[in-house]
Amino acid sequence: MLGPPGAGKGTQAQRLAQTYGVPKISTGDILRDAAAQETPLGLEVRHRIDQGHLVSDEVAIEIVRERLTRQDVSKGFILDGFPRTVGQAEALGTMMAGRGALVVLHMVVPAEVLVGRLHSRRICSVCGANADPSAPEATRCGQCGGELVQRTDDGESVVRNRLQVYDQRTRPLVAYYRSSPTFFEIDGNQVPDRVNEAMQAAIGQTLGATEESRS
Ligand code: AMP
Repeated sequence: MLGPPGAGKGTQAQRLAQTYGVPKISTGDILRDAAAQETPLGLEVRHRIDQGHLVSDEVAIEIVRERLTRQDVSKGFILDGFPRTVGQAEALGTMMAGRGALVVLHMVVPAEVLVGRLHSRRICSVCGANADPSAPEATRCGQCGGELVQRTDDGESVVRNRLQVYDQRTRPLVAYYRSSPTFFEIDGNQVPDRVNEAMQAAIGQTLGATEESRS
């Protein structure tokens, strides 16, 4: 899942994980959990997230490498927020050896829409789920009833920073993956159901091609 902050990666990753019965691996969620701990690494991670900077490639790659050693990824997995740099993409390429196709879904959303979405976004302070954007008045999480809060990195100046970091560090991945036969451009500026359909069509196309080459 490739796209700028606010493109809807987390929401769509959650839905795809449910549809295909595979785990969603969100480096942002894992790092926010680490940041909640008062360890030296946790404090460093919290500082970087709150400034809108990326954590080091070493830390991000190690999180994913470790997560991919678990049994539940054997049928596949959805990556949300990884890779975010060319170094991470190269490491992922190595980790994918023998695992089947890597489908890259590039979510395209105009910058002004992203800023609006990030300012109004709320997440659950208990389970971390994204609040339903179609119910802006809600104060409690639809999944667990926890209080809805703004993410500490969704304030105006940090959002500007994150979008800049995306342009500098992550956008080059579009060129990195574009020539791959399993790279798909998805219009993320549509209602979530339409975005989801486009993603499932892209994944279906890849799975179909894989089945064909096997038979
Ligand atoms: P996200 O929830 O994906 O928007 O990630 C929130 C924050 O976690 C980012 O702004 C980064 O500080 C950090 N982060 C998440 N994933 C990565 C990654 N793959 N590489 C480096 N930093 C990351």
